[in-house]
Amino acid sequence: MTKIKELSLRQQIIDAACAMHIDGLTVANSGNVSARSERGLLITPSGVAYESLTPESLVELNLSGEKLSGQLQASSEWHFHCAIYREKTDVAAIVHAHSPAATALSCLRKPLPAFHYMVALAGGYEIPCADYATFGTEELSHSVLSALKGYKACLMANHGMTVTGANIDGAYKLALEVESLCEMYHKAAVLGDVVLLSDKEMQEAADAFVVYGRAVKKGPNKA
Ligand code: 13P
Ligand code: ZN
Repeated sequence: MTKIKELSLRQQIIDAACAMHIDGLTVANSGNVSARSERGLLITPSGVAYESLTPESLVELNLSGEKLSGQLQASSEWHFHCAIYREKTDVAAIVHAHSPAATALSCLRKPLPAFHYMVALAGGYEIPCADYATFGTEELSHSVLSALKGYKACLMANHGMTVTGANIDGAYKLALEVESLCEMYHKAAVLGDVVLLSDKEMQEAADAFVVYGRAVKKGPNKA
């Protein structure tokens, strides 16, 4: 990775972390953001206000969690960030947030069910909820990794959500979607008994997503 590319990646991590405040995904210093780097990963430092971050404030770790560069302490959640990059070779960015709706739902310790077809964006027919463990522990890393098996996003019991992506933009947008879905589910559940989509209906939505939004090369759209 060239110096310019690495600088741009560092800036994207900071921009995503700051955007979490603007978009209401997090308050104060909670949450963290990372991206895969050539030697491992770049991650936000622990307990530092996002607005004060500069590209040099980020910490670079190898995938075993050893520090390669940076003056500050890496995010306390480095265990699960490293574990996800080790296990999921297609993941290049991770966003972890204590967003209000996802965190509220995570306290039920249940998956977000198939109440809306957009749930399929997370890779399956529901969005799973990782078992509770103390923040910053290897135990939490095991539960997050296990919940993410086959999924791009999960809730984390009594904690928040973790979302993965092929790049920062993808992970960040999915985090916004997950938060919005949790908000919608809450509203629907308050109104009455929520009717869930069947596995067949969810699979049809998942199949439709494969081609959704692709540029049409020639000719008009076929209805
Ligand atoms: P860090 O500031 O150490 O990244 O911790 C925030 C957090 O969300 C812990 O789960
Ligand atoms: Zn957290």
